[in-house]
Amino acid sequence: MQGIILIRKRRRLFFIFPLLASLVIASPASSERIGIIRDDGGEYLPVDEMITRFAIDHSFDMISQKGKLYRKSHYAVYSVGMSALLVDGELFKSSRPVRRVAGRVLIPLDAGEHIVTRFSPGIVLNKKMGGLDIEQPDGKAARPEKKERSPMPVKDRISFIVIDPGHGGKDPGAVGKGGLEEKDITLAVARHLREKLKKRHPGVRVISTRTDDRFIELSRRTEIANRKLKKNENGIFLSIHVNASLSGKISGYETFFLSQNPTNEEARNTAALENNVIILEKKSKRKKAFDDLDFIEATMITTQIQKESSFLAESIQNGMAARNKKFSSRGVKKADFFVLRGALMPAALIEIGYISNSREARSLTTKSHRRLIAEGIADGVDQFIKKYNSLVNLGGM
Ligand SMILES: [Zn+2]
Repeated sequence: MQGIILIRKRRRLFFIFPLLASLVIASPASSERIGIIRDDGGEYLPVDEMITRFAIDHSFDMISQKGKLYRKSHYAVYSVGMSALLVDGELFKSSRPVRRVAGRVLIPLDAGEHIVTRFSPGIVLNKKMGGLDIEQPDGKAARPEKKERSPMPVKDRISFIVIDPGHGGKDPGAVGKGGLEEKDITLAVARHLREKLKKRHPGVRVISTRTDDRFIELSRRTEIANRKLKKNENGIFLSIHVNASLSGKISGYETFFLSQNPTNEEARNTAALENNVIILEKKSKRKKAFDDLDFIEATMITTQIQKESSFLAESIQNGMAARNKKFSSRGVKKADFFVLRGALMPAALIEIGYISNSREARSLTTKSHRRLIAEGIADGVDQFIKKYNSLVNLGGM
């Protein structure tokens, strides 16, 4: 793995303990301090100090601007510019993003405290005069490290929706008769959907990964969405596509959510077809996005997000099925779509029809059919948002 710097600062605490114990005779626990940095109107813990004070290992990748903190079996993954961090496989959303100032990585204070208390159970942090007092039980009193109970899944209102029109630019997607291209259909449907969602959910931001005919790499699409995540704000990611088959007879629409176990051979083929675009991406970036540890870590979180995504897909498919009677509903399926990998929020990929079916392809060129599909997807999104909170509360998701 190139471009990774490993910094190890271990055992430093063991030198400090005896020293402090002699100074603070009456105290049963040793204590230390870490300075809080104020920058850009927020409070941060610098990573270089965190690794020293808490015996944490750290690696940072200069190209992707992602870093990993780890101690024993604990780990945290962050990305410069993002407010969402992965801590022991769970999402932690801060109110502000991780920053990098003059080469120093600054972790938002709330996230830093969360990481430290996860990594070192029993530790107590007290905010005092521009710093954190660290109290850790001495060696003997230290409680055995028990598995921390997972906090309740983060339940935040849906405050943004990211619409991702599949393909674009040098990547036309599936091509039908007469040169009809998937990328144009997905963009047109996305525009209708955007209008509808904006009207129906005035308090929700609707963001598009592209609004014109341009090429965007797969990993960049979810990154656009992930960067919107922050404390108390959750989102939805919708990727819109058109399917193709060697058989001109197959028609209909279906909705997918991410899984490493595809529903069937057809679902696997659809994903393979959609993933194909990766050959158009730059080799170095492709490797970065899909080969390294990030992916493994991202999949660890998906148990919860997968449940939510499954419900999102179901809602959308139902919404479309109620509107689009001209073609058949092919149901909800799961498969390994690269574009959904790493989405830190409920995400679905919608195959709105078959470009290889001449009747459906014709429909997909008409405004009325595109509107109808957008209407159906919007209905599904409404349904999802409405039920989202209540189902999380019931533990049903
Ligand atoms: Zn596609």
